[in-house]
Amino acid sequence: MTRFFSASLSGLEPYTPGEQPRGLADLIKLNTNESPFPPSPRAVEAIGAQQVRDLRLYSDPACTDFLAALAEAFGVPKNCVFASNGSDEALAFAFRAFCDAGAAFPDVTYGFYPVFAQLFGVKTRVVPLRDDWSLAPEDYKGLKETLFLANPNAPTGLALPRARIEKLVAADPGRLVVVDEAYVDFGAESCVPLTQRYDNVLVVGTFSKSRSLAGARLGYAVGAPSLIADLNAVKFSFNPYNVNRLTLAAGAASVRDAEHFKTCCAKIVGAREETKTSLRALGFTVTESRANFLFAAPPAPRTGAEYFAFLRENGILVRHFAAPRTENYVRITVGTGVQMHRLVAVTKEFLKGETR
Ligand SMILES: *Cc1c(COP(=O)(O)O)cnc(C)c1O
Repeated sequence: MTRFFSASLSGLEPYTPGEQPRGLADLIKLNTNESPFPPSPRAVEAIGAQQVRDLRLYSDPACTDFLAALAEAFGVPKNCVFASNGSDEALAFAFRAFCDAGAAFPDVTYGFYPVFAQLFGVKTRVVPLRDDWSLAPEDYKGLKETLFLANPNAPTGLALPRARIEKLVAADPGRLVVVDEAYVDFGAESCVPLTQRYDNVLVVGTFSKSRSLAGARLGYAVGAPSLIADLNAVKFSFNPYNVNRLTLAAGAASVRDAEHFKTCCAKIVGAREETKTSLRALGFTVTESRANFLFAAPPAPRTGAEYFAFLRENGILVRHFAAPRTENYVRITVGTGVQMHRLVAVTKEFLKGETR
């Protein structure tokens, strides 16, 4: 840290992204919840030579065509949607815009929430998940802070039904609930319909997982027009051209290809359920994930750290969170069926080995 660095940021602990190895050859990458499938062929086509030549021009600050496609897909008016450079940016804007009363979120959830809070000087309240990793909406009753709820949650994969989130939203119109739906397309209920009935719920989503566009950086928010106007006030005070031209074109084409999207999600869900069953049969504890990953702990006395290391030695990269509550678990992104069969085979070898 230099002597020029703001004292207000001296304690900043930046987010640690999962490893992005240079050479992917021979490595099965199941550590950052990307899709194993390419994006929609229509999205690939949308980035043509003309789009590249047009890079001399700024991108559309209103993201008009992309947002029209998104609004249509969600069945909401165009003034209810917002586009961002990955959903991380929409979340960052929400932390900056809506957290005068602080932010509340679970102890085990997306690791970026406490980082954004620190960056923007937002006070936080951390609410522990129950022993079975469940999020009990009652635990948030009466809290005045803006709530950040990942649904499904990460890295547990557990989801709440929309009706239970609606109760939280309806209970206090003076409190905003931000629902992070990064993984909703893999089998949870979206809260987008709530945005048409309540002006204190904001849904944030991403094209990084279910739409295979992690590298394009595309996210969105859906909410009442007043909330979207506030997000735009922040965006136009920071980076009006926050989503680049190629990404906007790919994103619009992706939204318009519902078929490809559904097929990819169904394959992931199928591989997830099959792998979950296999791991449980091997004695693992595996949560009931509704996401594109599994949260799994090996049978004692084997530890999550040993399992992580063994998989890595055998060319399979997963994520291990070395915090007290999560250290016995690993988070395994669901890849192709072939990749998951390999994971199960290596796991069997792991269980045969000596315990340390
Ligand atoms: C992956 C993820 C995001 C952010 O994804 P972007 O790539 O920035 O769109 C947001 N929330 C959760 C819970 C995630 O897992």
